[in-house]
Amino acid sequence: MTTRRAPGYVELATRGQLARRVRTLQEFLHSCTVCPRRCAVDRRNELGECATGSQAVVASWTPHFGEEPAISAKRGSGTVFLANCNLRCAFCQNHEISQGKRTSSSSTTSTEELAAIFVELQNRGCHNINWVSPTHQVPQLTAALELAAHRGLAIPVVYNSNGYDSVEVLRLLDGVVDVYMPDLKYSDTVTGNELSGAQDYPLHARTAILEMFRQVGDKWILDDEGALVRGLLIRLLVLPNDLAGVEESLRWIAEELSPRVGISLMAQYYPAHRTQNQAQYPLLCRTISAGEWGRALESLEHWMDGDHHNVQDHQSSPRYYRPDFSDPEVPFADIDDFI
Ligand code: SF4
Repeated sequence: MTTRRAPGYVELATRGQLARRVRTLQEFLHSCTVCPRRCAVDRRNELGECATGSQAVVASWTPHFGEEPAISAKRGSGTVFLANCNLRCAFCQNHEISQGKRTSSSSTTSTEELAAIFVELQNRGCHNINWVSPTHQVPQLTAALELAAHRGLAIPVVYNSNGYDSVEVLRLLDGVVDVYMPDLKYSDTVTGNELSGAQDYPLHARTAILEMFRQVGDKWILDDEGALVRGLLIRLLVLPNDLAGVEESLRWIAEELSPRVGISLMAQYYPAHRTQNQAQYPLLCRTISAGEWGRALESLEHWMDGDHHNVQDHQSSPRYYRPDFSDPEVPFADIDDFI
C-alpha cells in the first residue's frame, strides 16, 4: 500500500495533546521508570544506569543511507544517535557512544537544539527522523518533537530501539511514533542477563513489541518513493552458537503477533567491544558461519510468510556495518560501499 499522509504527531501537536503527553513523560524522570530497569532516581539531579540526566545527549546526527531499504529509501534516513544506553551489550557495535565516555552536563542537547536538528534533517531531504537508541531519552525526544512540529516538521518518526522498553512509555507514544523498528535480541533470559546486563530481557522486549504491534499492526504503509511511513520491522541479529535464539523469536512472532510482521534478519555480527576478549567470550569470538546463517534463513522461511523481510548478505555485512564515531558527521561508510 502506498500513500502520503501527515504523521500523527502533527495533529497531536496542533491540538495540544502532544504537549500533555510530554508533560506526563517528563514526570517519569522524577523517579525514573522510563525503562524496565526502573532505577527510581530523580534524573534532574542524579543519574541511573543509563548515565543520562534530564537533558538529551546526542552523539551524532546525519542522513544515513545504510539502514534497511524501506527506512533509508532514496533520500536517506534522518538518524539521530542518542548517546549512552540502557543496555550493556558485550558485543555492542556502537559502544563508543553507548558505553564509552558517559554523559556530562557540557555535552547535553537542549530541546531547542534537538528540534532544530529534526528540522534540519527534514530540510536535507530525509524521509524520516530515526531515533536510534531512544529508550532512555523518550521524554526529551518527544519534547523536541512537539516543538519541531510547530516549526513545520512533518516527516515520520522511526523508533529504532534495543527492545528493552517500558510499556507505560510506549502507550504514550501511540499515534506519535509512525514506524517501530525494535531489536529482539534474545529468547533466553540467562543469555540476556549475561550478554546485555538486562534482567528478564525476553519478557520485557516481548511485552514492548506486543504494544508496538497493537499500535501499528503487521501492515506496511509506504510512500510513493518506497519509504515506510507506518509499520513494524523487527530486527533479529544472528549470533554465533545460536546465542540469540532466532528460531524461538521467529516462532514467538509468528504465533503471538502475526506471520506477516516485517523481519530484518541480520548477519553483521563481528566480535566488537568486550567480545574481542576471546578468553572471556569464547562463544562470540568469530562471525557467524554459513551453516548458522543458513539455519536462520530456513527458520525465517518456516515461520514467516510476509512480504516485508530484509535479509543481509552473509559475506559482506560484517565488514560493511562498522560504525566509526570519531567523525560524528559520517559514522558509516558511504552508500556506494553498501551496494
Ligand atoms: S531510563 Fe535510565 S535512569 Fe531511567 S530506569 Fe532506565 S536506566 Fe534507569
